[in-house]
Amino acid sequence: MPDIQIHNQLLAKHNLKITAPRLSVLAVLNSREMATSQPNLEQLLGKQIDRVTLYRTLATFEEKGIIHKVMGANGTSNYALCSTACTQHQHHDQHVHFNCTQCLNVYCLDKLEIPQLQIPDGFTTNKIDLMVSGVCNNCNLVG
Ligand SMILES: [Zn+2]
Ligand SMILES: [Zn+2]
Ligand SMILES: [Zn+2]
Repeated sequence: MPDIQIHNQLLAKHNLKITAPRLSVLAVLNSREMATSQPNLEQLLGKQIDRVTLYRTLATFEEKGIIHKVMGANGTSNYALCSTACTQHQHHDQHVHFNCTQCLNVYCLDKLEIPQLQIPDGFTTNKIDLMVSGVCNNCNLVG
């Protein structure tokens, strides 16, 4: 199935109107192997979307469980598509994130699940983040 069709279905599934800006954001996020910051998205989308619409689109997508936010080492918010397990108000992105100290890109290591943690009695968990820092494969290739 072509990406555009998958994205149409994704929006419909979450009861979101299918609009050109929303589809553009999904297309860009889908085309990237790393999570993308808002300024970066602005650059990549160019005139396809204005800043306010982008801001609102990201907020809606995050709330609906379509994308998740990952904090970079330098404090920027980065956005990446969620797994299909995510629903409204409930994210299940229990994968490891990787922060490259050279290019500052943040990667979703989707296949690497966060191991089960023994949280002490009396504590309840809402969210677990696991961020690994180091040098990514692209930077390592460049040497
Ligand atoms: Zn999610
Ligand atoms: Zn890197
Ligand atoms: Zn992720």
